[in-house]
Amino acid sequence: MKYIFVSGGVLSGLGKGIATSSLGLLLKRSGLKVTAIKVDPYLNCDAGTMNPYEHGEVFVLHDGGEVDLDLGNYERFLDITLSSEHNITTGKIYRSVIEKERRGDYLGKTVQIIPHIVQEIKNTITNVGKGSGCDVCLIELGGTVGDMESMPFLEAARQLHMELGGGDVIFIHTTLIPIMGVVGEQKTKPTQHSVKELRSIGIQPDIIIGRCSEPLAQTTKEKISLFCNVPVKAVFTAHDVSTVYRVPILLHEQGLTDYVRDRLELKKNVTDLDAWREFVERIERPKETIKIALVGKYTGLKDSYISHYKAFEHSGAKAGVSIDVVWIDAPERGVGFEEELRGMREQLSSVHGILVPGGFGVRGTEGKIEAIRYARENNIPFLGICLGFQLAVSEFARNVMGLEGANSTEFDEQTRYPVVDILPEQLRVTQMGATMRLGAQKCIIRKDTLAYGLYDAGEIYERHRHRYEINPDWIERIEDAGMVFSGISEDGIKMEIGELPDARYHIGCQFHPEFLSRPEKPAPLFLGLVKAAKNFKRKREG
Ligand code: GLN
Repeated sequence: MKYIFVSGGVLSGLGKGIATSSLGLLLKRSGLKVTAIKVDPYLNCDAGTMNPYEHGEVFVLHDGGEVDLDLGNYERFLDITLSSEHNITTGKIYRSVIEKERRGDYLGKTVQIIPHIVQEIKNTITNVGKGSGCDVCLIELGGTVGDMESMPFLEAARQLHMELGGGDVIFIHTTLIPIMGVVGEQKTKPTQHSVKELRSIGIQPDIIIGRCSEPLAQTTKEKISLFCNVPVKAVFTAHDVSTVYRVPILLHEQGLTDYVRDRLELKKNVTDLDAWREFVERIERPKETIKIALVGKYTGLKDSYISHYKAFEHSGAKAGVSIDVVWIDAPERGVGFEEELRGMREQLSSVHGILVPGGFGVRGTEGKIEAIRYARENNIPFLGICLGFQLAVSEFARNVMGLEGANSTEFDEQTRYPVVDILPEQLRVTQMGATMRLGAQKCIIRKDTLAYGLYDAGEIYERHRHRYEINPDWIERIEDAGMVFSGISEDGIKMEIGELPDARYHIGCQFHPEFLSRPEKPAPLFLGLVKAAKNFKRKREG
């Protein structure tokens, strides 16, 4: 097993996750088995209890793990399925050490950060690595070198390098090279400082990836080489490119794949990037652009909806279009609601498709219901995901079945028409962390429906994250009014997909199809939306 640690210097948001995923993709397409781990140095045991505004989207894995969005990048770039152990947080490490202490595993000892926490980190990394049966394990260290909270993780990395040796463990450091002044000089000082910081902890990076708005000049590389103690050929450029999907190609062409394989003594098969290049070219050269509105509540931070955005990119590449996502903050009831609604309808009148994503809490739900109503009444292609699906059912109940005030009991416990209600098993839940209906669940698809056509299968697995469901007491009446529940859970009780057969494309799902979308295998419900939007655009524009 070979380990590649990827750290970040200078500042966050440098694209460390993309660098890690890109290298993973290059090694995988060179015939190696690759896995990845994300380290998050915060005290939450997982990302499930965090507001997307704080940390971006909560990504959900097959096993129900609620994890950092970087695991989504790994799954998409590497086309693999990860489990929750692949996201290590300080909270998880401490919880495990404290449980062991209570059990008496350390009896007689004083339990301390060094050695116990660090040992726990090392064990976790090597267990996950070995357990995966892969050739290479990439470990992305969240945070920036120098942060107090990431120290135990860096110490664990240092010790692993010492114990396993430089042939099995290497370090990649990603940094920022700003360009300053009128002459546009590439500045290496921040990089020098952050490498100095790393070296003071006992880690000498093997490779430096410099993030810059332009390709690094040879003189810049030489300077980094000299001051950071790495060969010039181990300094790579990750400059701004048209799409993140180009980054693997960019790094490969500079020799990163070969350099890593040399350092780790890995076998050297051809790196087959043909299919990937084709995908990137399709992304870069769309034949037309369509507009799809995303009516949400965290639209101020695009990372909150990153998997939706990716699913659009994948679908666009397949359908030959690029998607201009129109971010709409759902109007909230109160002063100015009517006016905000008018503004929203105005925006919706020029789009070719509407997506209402998942969410929690009442804020913005009335605005979203109005967006769904607008989609249905104007026959604009619509996809509702999780909360978006539940709201589509409330909208249908209110405006088609005439059940005024129909709602989810999540937002109105007293509603006369509780068309969406809490899952019975959720009534026993007292703690918030990791207690929703989570992860991959089987769904049976009814023949001769839109959903069947999209999936081309009678049985699918999709990932879930919710506490509420379409109220079983209302299903028959809703179906009698014309909505078809085309996807149902294996036990026959939970409605997983609902559609309106007469509409151009009006469909909702209780699960999150965005988590399983892959560059070359877009999520069927997204692809369906994009294709319907493309046709709708043609039709409307003649
Ligand atoms: N709040 C809703 C529920 O818990 C929807 C959740 C979601 O959209 N992920 O069921």
